[in-house]
Amino acid sequence: MDEVIVIGAGIAGLAAAHALTQDGRQVRVLEARNRIGGRIWTDDTPADGPIERGAEFIHGDSVAVWQYVRMLGLTAEKAPLWDGRRVFHEGRLHKASALAADTDITRLTHIDADILAYRGPDISFADWLTAAHYNGTARHIADIRYAHASATTPERSSIHAMQSEFAAQQREGGDDYHIRDGYARIVEWFATGLQIQTESPVCALTQGEAGVTVTLLNGDIHRARRVIVTIPLALLQRSAITFTPALSPEKQTAIRSLDMGSGCKVILRFRNPFWDDQTTFITLADPAPVWWTIDPLRPVLVGLFTGPRADALLTNPQPIETCRALLRAVYGTVVDETFVSGECVDWSSDPWCMGGYSSVPVGALAARAGLAVPEGRIHFAGEATALDGHPASVHGALVSGQRAAAEIRAAHD
Ligand SMILES: Cc1cc2nc3c(=O)[nH]c(=O)nc-3n(C[C@H](O)[C@H](O)[C@H](O)COP(=O)(O)OP(=O)(O)OC[C@H]3O[C@@H](n4cnc5c(N)ncnc54)[C@H](O)[C@@H]3O)c2cc1C
Repeated sequence: MDEVIVIGAGIAGLAAAHALTQDGRQVRVLEARNRIGGRIWTDDTPADGPIERGAEFIHGDSVAVWQYVRMLGLTAEKAPLWDGRRVFHEGRLHKASALAADTDITRLTHIDADILAYRGPDISFADWLTAAHYNGTARHIADIRYAHASATTPERSSIHAMQSEFAAQQREGGDDYHIRDGYARIVEWFATGLQIQTESPVCALTQGEAGVTVTLLNGDIHRARRVIVTIPLALLQRSAITFTPALSPEKQTAIRSLDMGSGCKVILRFRNPFWDDQTTFITLADPAPVWWTIDPLRPVLVGLFTGPRADALLTNPQPIETCRALLRAVYGTVVDETFVSGECVDWSSDPWCMGGYSSVPVGALAARAGLAVPEGRIHFAGEATALDGHPASVHGALVSGQRAAAEIRAAHD
């Protein structure tokens, strides 16, 4: 019998396994894919530097990831959210700061504080924007920056959940940073020395008095005193693992209450950059609303599609062509003249993810804490269980794994 089995070698599972191994416990990590990292998936092949197919930014100035960035001597550079933003408005690209004459857009610079100041029942972000008289381009930018970035829509987004995340940003800073060396370096560090079994999808957990029986899809069986489940929310929602006895009604409600919208990234490589050398984020109209540079001087653009926008792109037989056409409408024929290659990374049809990341619909903020509660010898971690306003992020997932490890430590068995 293993002491602990961790299901999933994403950052939550690796952080949990690392912490328990440091304690001297024997831990086995079972991972469905043939690689580790989960939604961190760095492409190290480009000669001009890594490209992130999944998680890319450190969201925040002092969140948990920074400890490892510093310890490993990695370089992280700020991607200015406002100063570097370009907005396609009335047929032309503008610096967001130059659009500030538009009163509504000026208000976006303090929208976080305005949302934090809201006192009242949980309502949707869409209703909040309407009540605050946000219209036109400012409303679109607010959607892209908050709802779209959270793989949801303004109509589904809970204002109370947004307040909890903004409060975290106030504590730990809200800037975005690129890790020049690639997020994978942190994954590799956590994985060092761990007993990780890849290509080992788990399909059933049976809990008894003394431990948990873990059944793999290939029929193999392992036993452990305790188990940590870190699989993505969308897989829990699809009962990818069956639990015997069944999960409590409270846990099932928590699983059902949260959302996990689609998520996909489009990565376009060009011979040389055709944007100005300060560009960080590019806000366009639908259907391809947000792009960014990894470094303004690198000839790569990354587009993020989530929720219904991702669904629409992914039903399109030629997503790369579509994106090129949309960028051509903004930058002109230089897009085609310099185009080298494109990649569409669809996390929603990935059988070991089935979506981008979790989000909270109106009235469901408590579901994250409910999802995190252990059920006997089975513990839960992963980005959807992240508390303190850090969901849907690498740092939130990392800390959730450490929290599950601490639960096992406290159990003294
Ligand atoms: C497109 C995209 C962009 C993102 N950008 C950012 C960003 O810029 N910054 C940021 O902080 N966060 C970002 N995120 C979110 C971040 O990637 C996640 O919050 C975090 O990596 C989740 O870690 P996790 O360990 O909870 O889950 P995962 O990384 O999904 O790990 C779960 C693991 O479980 C495995 N698994 C699934 N089912 C089974 C099974 N049955 N048996 C065994 N193993 C199984 C999976 O293969 C996976 O390896 C992004 C996510 C996406 C999809």
